[in-house]
Amino acid sequence: MKIEEITMIPVSEPWLGDKELEYVTDCINSGWISSIGKYVEMFEEKFSQYCDMRYGVSTSNGTTALHLALTALGIGKGDEVLVPDLTFIATANAVTYCNAKPVFVDSHPDYWCINPEKIEEKITKNTKAIIPVHLYGHPCDMDPIMDLARDHDMYIIEDVAEAHGAKYKGRVLGSFGDISCFSFYGNKIITTGEGGMCLMNDEELMERSKLLRDHAMSREKRYWHDLIGFNYRLTNIQAAIGIAQLEKIDKIIEIKRKNAQYYAEGLRELDNRGLITLHPQMPWAKNVYWMYSIIFKRLNGLSRDKLICRLKDEGIDTRPFFYPMHVLPPYVSNIKFPIAQSLSEHGINLPSSAKLTKETIDHISHSILELLI
Ligand SMILES: *Cc1c(COP(=O)(O)O)cnc(C)c1O
Repeated sequence: MKIEEITMIPVSEPWLGDKELEYVTDCINSGWISSIGKYVEMFEEKFSQYCDMRYGVSTSNGTTALHLALTALGIGKGDEVLVPDLTFIATANAVTYCNAKPVFVDSHPDYWCINPEKIEEKITKNTKAIIPVHLYGHPCDMDPIMDLARDHDMYIIEDVAEAHGAKYKGRVLGSFGDISCFSFYGNKIITTGEGGMCLMNDEELMERSKLLRDHAMSREKRYWHDLIGFNYRLTNIQAAIGIAQLEKIDKIIEIKRKNAQYYAEGLRELDNRGLITLHPQMPWAKNVYWMYSIIFKRLNGLSRDKLICRLKDEGIDTRPFFYPMHVLPPYVSNIKFPIAQSLSEHGINLPSSAKLTKETIDHISHSILELLI
């Protein structure tokens, strides 16, 4: 490892402790290290409860959760699925894996998620589903999305990979979709290393998802397969970490929200002067600030990318926003998505882990202030 990597303030860092170690050790001592074991079921039960959903089907990661959800809902060739233009590519890829077509929708300028007003114009007779992505911890505006889904007979698959525990009008995310998909990758709000989960209320959908997750092997007749399924299982070791993480999820969220306040206090002056936009929280939203993010337009030749470089020189690691899907080679198109494009060009994710102290956040805010004023 290079020195600079050791001294850098990371964008994200998992918060692991004694409980994670204890439960993992228990798995190893018991011999149940694969996908059968008590922690898998416990994690599915506890996490679905946490999100007010009846069933949890754990998966090997968030991408497989999305693919499993779409497949369980019968999305396939010729179907179209609405996806925000500004998201991580996994959302769009999961649709492509089903031989269906992701159809992109522009973002809302105020809170960066899919803009409900831009959805209807993209609906065709082939549109079967919509995947609202709760970007960087902020919820989508779910009421109009639910209305559109009902009026146009579309499934809702929530992509909650970046917003565990966030709320829309007091209701927890993941409880709105026909199926809701989570990721527990190392940088997510809680982690299992790699891992994911689908949540649903419908028993048949749960059964179908479990079947497909396990090679679609018949429950009655071993090694009999009526369908082509997958191996998308989570391991007992991963679930054991998940249980320990779930025990402190509320604390993690509380810290992340507190840290967001510290950033807002430290950077307020820049926002007031119109130099940056702070990470929003709409009146109807409880943002969990997966990545505390700002929009920086430009200042006397200092571009967003230069600012990122300057901060790196000072030992502060940051990330640019995702590229919008419509500029990436697999999905390139001439259709305009001006808001997603602009957010993508100007957005920065600041260090956001729950392990950050107020002192470190003040230091980061101060460094940004120094560079911009
Ligand atoms: C992380 C992420 C995923 C994919 O999750 P993995 O566990 O990395 O496969 C999907 N969608 C969004 C929005 C994500 O941020």
